[in-house]
Amino acid sequence: MKPAGGVRGFLAPAGGFGVTLSNMFRPTVTEEYPSEKVPAKPRYHGRHQLNRYADGLEKCIGCELCAWACPADAIYVEGADNTPDNQRSPGERYGAVYQINYLRCIFCGLCIEACPTRALTMTNEYELAGPTRTGMIWEKQDLLAPLRSGMLAAPHPMVEGTTDTEYYRGEVTGPTEAQQAWVREHRPDDPTLPEGEGVDAANVQLSDAATTAAEMARLVAAANKQGSR
Ligand code: SF4
Ligand code: SF4
Repeated sequence: MKPAGGVRGFLAPAGGFGVTLSNMFRPTVTEEYPSEKVPAKPRYHGRHQLNRYADGLEKCIGCELCAWACPADAIYVEGADNTPDNQRSPGERYGAVYQINYLRCIFCGLCIEACPTRALTMTNEYELAGPTRTGMIWEKQDLLAPLRSGMLAAPHPMVEGTTDTEYYRGEVTGPTEAQQAWVREHRPDDPTLPEGEGVDAANVQLSDAATTAAEMARLVAAANKQGSR
């Protein structure tokens, strides 16, 4: 391109600096991520969460509707029957295997719309990178909501005299003494019992059970080593 001559050419550098100068006095909009994390908007579609009822039972009933609704085929669910010794959710079935493949997920939210029990919701958490492809498949224990204060860790029986309908209606507001007695008989060391260490200790146990990305990387490395023999 032919350079501008005369007065226009003489003033061109000043025009360029003018743009710089006018921007120097505007508020800074650069986000210093990751050292400073800006909270996402309240309705941001981030990582999924599998929720619990107020008494600690899981809301997921293993119906697979979320998996069928997913356009990216990112969810895999296997349901199983609740039994008197292993009641994990109200009603007949619970989600025994639950996986979300975050290499496929496009965060559209169709799965949470399809869920009939509001078991599946999306959090604001957006830091979902990982060192391995296998580690990007999140398991049920990675997705399950932490126990809140007052909850009793599953499995345990449903509240006496209730059906899954009362749970769906939100009429169960916390564990009963009968549920606590059942847990005391079957898991006397459970930290979520009133005399136990509390939900914080229980959540530490649960997060230890969750397969972290680092653990996944170790497992993949071990599997690759076996495969190369
Ligand atoms: S957010 Fe969309 S793509 Fe991701 S698991 Fe749910 S339905 Fe599938
Ligand atoms: S998360 Fe909801 S839709 Fe998916 S299997 Fe569980 S209950 Fe069914």
